Amino acid sequence: MKKKGWKEVPIGGVLKDKGSSVAYNSGSWRSFRPVIDLEKCINCMFCWVYCPDSSVIIKGGLVAGFDLEHCKGCGICAKECPPKVTAITMEPESKGPVCG
Ligand code: SF4
Ligand code: SF4
Repeated sequence: MKKKGWKEVPIGGVLKDKGSSVAYNSGSWRSFRPVIDLEKCINCMFCWVYCPDSSVIIKGGLVAGFDLEHCKGCGICAKECPPKVTAITMEPESKGPVCG
């Protein structure tokens, strides 16, 4: 996506086109990323329900990972993962790319 200068941004930063959020790489400002241990996951889907950015990827009815182009690293998924499970940990981006 081509970056815009500030003069081209609509007042208030309003997104005028439907579905345009897909083109915004909101994951680019993340400082922590969720990392899932699929061995621990019981597929309760709490992380999927609570993720504000629809960034929990489901495949075949099971949690498969995260859409890191749009995950902002808020940590809600890790917080909502049941305490007896704790399948998600938040790792600093500074540790470099990891599967998740
Ligand atoms: S860290 Fe936040 S945005 Fe990223 S997957 Fe978890 S709940 Fe969604
Ligand atoms: S909240 Fe935790 S246990 Fe539940 S689906 Fe997500 S990762 Fe798996």
